[in-house]
Amino acid sequence: MSTPVPEDVPAVEADGYPAPMFEPFHTDEDGFDTDVVIVGLGPAGGIAATALATYGVRVHAATVFPWVANGPRAHITNQRAVEVLRDLGLEDTARQQATPWDQMGDTLFTTSLTGEEIVRLQTWGTGDLRYGDYLKGSPCTMLDLPQPQMEPILLDAAASRGAVLSFNTEYLDHTQDADGVTVTFRDGRTGQVFTQRARYLLGFDGARSRIVEQLALPLEGELARAGTAYIRFKANLTQYVEHRPSILYWIFNSHAGFGEIGMGLLRAIRPWEEWIAGWGFDMAAGEPDLSDDKVIDQIRTLVGDPDLEPEILTKSLWYVNQQHATRYSEGRVFCGGDAVHRHPPSSGLGSNTSMQDAFNLAWKVAFAVKGYAGPGLLESYSDERAPVGKQIVARANQSRKDYAGLREWFDHDSEDPVTAGLTKLKAPTAEGEALRSRLYEALELKNTEFNAHGIELNQRYTSAAVLPDETLGEEEWPHHPELYLQATTRPGAKLPHAWLVGTDGRRISTLDVTGKGQMTLLTGIAGAAWKDAAAKLELPFLKTVVIGEPGATDPYGYWQQVRDIPEAGALIVRPDGYIAWRHNAEVWDIDEATTLLETALDAVLDRPEDRPPHDQQGRQQYSTRSVDITVPSHAPTATA
Ligand SMILES: Cc1cc2nc3c(=O)[nH]c(=O)nc-3n(C[C@H](O)[C@H](O)[C@H](O)COP(=O)(O)OP(=O)(O)OC[C@H]3O[C@@H](n4cnc5c(N)ncnc54)[C@H](O)[C@@H]3O)c2cc1C
Repeated sequence: MSTPVPEDVPAVEADGYPAPMFEPFHTDEDGFDTDVVIVGLGPAGGIAATALATYGVRVHAATVFPWVANGPRAHITNQRAVEVLRDLGLEDTARQQATPWDQMGDTLFTTSLTGEEIVRLQTWGTGDLRYGDYLKGSPCTMLDLPQPQMEPILLDAAASRGAVLSFNTEYLDHTQDADGVTVTFRDGRTGQVFTQRARYLLGFDGARSRIVEQLALPLEGELARAGTAYIRFKANLTQYVEHRPSILYWIFNSHAGFGEIGMGLLRAIRPWEEWIAGWGFDMAAGEPDLSDDKVIDQIRTLVGDPDLEPEILTKSLWYVNQQHATRYSEGRVFCGGDAVHRHPPSSGLGSNTSMQDAFNLAWKVAFAVKGYAGPGLLESYSDERAPVGKQIVARANQSRKDYAGLREWFDHDSEDPVTAGLTKLKAPTAEGEALRSRLYEALELKNTEFNAHGIELNQRYTSAAVLPDETLGEEEWPHHPELYLQATTRPGAKLPHAWLVGTDGRRISTLDVTGKGQMTLLTGIAGAAWKDAAAKLELPFLKTVVIGEPGATDPYGYWQQVRDIPEAGALIVRPDGYIAWRHNAEVWDIDEATTLLETALDAVLDRPEDRPPHDQQGRQQYSTRSVDITVPSHAPTATA
């Protein structure tokens, strides 16, 4: 019901107002309206806008939507994505809104919520066998944070740190030249078309990316190879699930399973009152019947309660894609997120990977804008992230296929394959025993979807922004690389997490003393020559951390165990937490350390030959856009 207009408020004379104008951007003396335009404010665009604004870069980020994602979409937020949030000072805010890690719990396979349960898997690292691995691997736990809750956190941070955000703003086209990009938009409210001049354009515009299409980035794979219906509904299912908390309940039911996965799904959105019911449909038969009667019937079947009265919130169809771009950039335009890797939600890698694309790119763009780095650094983005995209597209699709083993006991000769199959599965016969043993094997395989710590954290970058350690051979993988994190200080790997102790006696992670938009030279107490070398170079983007000094002591000896270099050796850790270079030998001489450090930084950053002039204090003057980085300090006690 609309609110009545009070009688004493006169009607607005719309004709008396000037035509709407859209001029929020000011071209400054350098000829650019902004340094960076981002198209898209999903998880990728949101992280890019937040990071760039945090790093002091002028950024305008636009979305065609009036606001954030209008459906739950992504929710599993893995440790690496939470580490990104932590670096940007947003971990605690995200944690307050998320379903905590321990409640992500088991993944159940059952005939309905009231029916016979078949098997269960302890998932997302919460199980007895993997809990310690996950705790050891990161200062952050996983979270379950649906996209409509995640995105506002990013937008709030981006805008409050200086990013200009535009809603209802459709990207149309762009042209680029040697110096910049001219981007054309249409304001969805007025229809006005306007252009904007920027140094760089980031295409984070989702799976139907117009920018990827316009750039004709090379894509491999196929789209829409299977279809799924997703119905969001409200119903209090506490009585069925409270004693076995999980965010995913897979339902074996002859009336509710079809296609590759062959099972229905109940996914908790807000435990235990808001849910998604999902099931596959036959694309060859056209779009499925999603009438209220049909979907309520299906939900009742999945729950196993014929009297349930669910409140239907939204109905949608989505299609299983298996496609990735083999190159992510062209000149001054860089794409990321679903725009360049399109795959199903299985393994929960979509928004996590998209956020990491953005985090990989943001500091590189910031360093280029500020004059700290040359174009070679920007080119490393595609070299580093395209292999990750290819890997996760394959993994997510394989995870769907791997459900097949869990259904081998179905009796396909019967009218009701699940009920008839169940009789055989439980039979005290050799056939029953074989089926049960095969079922456990298939369940074990699902660890590659649900406890895939390696998939989440073991990325290795090979690019010009990573200098190989010539003292090393090929990396060996004694454990399953998809299941187990292999922490290492080899260049191209993520800096291992180790608990240190800060000046106030609280635990802080190695990840807390690095990052925050700066390169870090990491050494030990014996690395005095490195410390002096860094001081001599006086680079505004480089900080030095000496592990063992007050603020970063190593009383547990955890860093000592994982550093893999002598105390008088050194690492360069990039702002995104990846190791760019390591010197695996002791250095005691300042001149030697200075030459090694400067040579490494020049190569990693592709530093311009013509260095900026010096100011009166003898400091080099970089771009006028070089402003201090102000990341809100993180309270490292959250998981300590
Ligand atoms: C059902 C479902 C469940 C999922 N579950 C998970 C999960 O558990 N974990 C996980 O990590 N991932 C999951 N995902 C995947 C995740 O939602 C995506 O990977 C993620 O949203 C990609 O982020 P993005 O920023 O690249 O793109 P999107 O989130 O798609 O954002 C694209 C942005 O671009 C904007 N845009 C597009 N075109 C234009 C234009 N022309 N002009 C202006 N703006 C434009 C849009 O408005 C939007 O802001 C799931 C997806 C689905 C569908």
